Amino acid sequence: MRRKLAAGNWKMNGTRAALDELAAMGAAAEGAAEILVCPPATLIAAAAQTAKGIAIGGQDCHPAQSGAHTGDLSAPMLADAGASYVILGHSERRADHGEDDQLIREKTRAAWDANLTAVVCVGETLDQREANNTLDIIGGQLAASIPDGATAHRLVVAYEPVWAIGTGKVPTMEQIGEVHGFIRARLERRFGAGVGRSTRLLYGGSVKPGNAAEIFAVPNVDGALVGGASLKAADFLPIIEALN
Ligand code: PGA
Repeated sequence: MRRKLAAGNWKMNGTRAALDELAAMGAAAEGAAEILVCPPATLIAAAAQTAKGIAIGGQDCHPAQSGAHTGDLSAPMLADAGASYVILGHSERRADHGEDDQLIREKTRAAWDANLTAVVCVGETLDQREANNTLDIIGGQLAASIPDGATAHRLVVAYEPVWAIGTGKVPTMEQIGEVHGFIRARLERRFGAGVGRSTRLLYGGSVKPGNAAEIFAVPNVDGALVGGASLKAADFLPIIEALN
């Protein structure tokens, strides 16, 4: 009942030449898994035109609809450009821009108001894991960064251990399963069994063609949020294939 989701986060990578990669990813568009690519904002409108059968998302939005916020983009602007998703609370935004859970909650609310599906990211640092605080941290982030009134249609949660992003390090499958099971239980408790069971949970952090199948076999892993390996069709297509 949860459609698998292969989500690519291009981060600050890609000029118009990258649209060729996106077009090549369309080869998997007829498969069972949904495909989402979140390019830099400069490419959203062109990507939405190029990508047949691939959903397009933003990587951030401002909590306000419009106004005096130089350099920012609002959720209605992303939707107008052709986005249907937006990544919120990525650890790089938390670190580079000092985003906290409350701001992420406001952004998620703004995304929902613009009919965007929010991919809300949570994850522990290495220090937090080594201090055995992982579940406390994840629980706190979930409680504070997701607004009331979540629906399975408008919410995706991505578990991304900070220490696994771009490092080639991946938690054990047991660790991934433990956190995903915990997130599922927390969503069921707060939003009810229906919403909790139908919300998709993605794993993110050093997902590659070589480890995707093993990760996707873990219970409560409904797909991946992929950074580096989503930039090239040759890497992303086998990851999508592992979900189909
Ligand atoms: P990575 O990034 O796949 O390059 O580790 C994942 C992410 O930050 O979403």
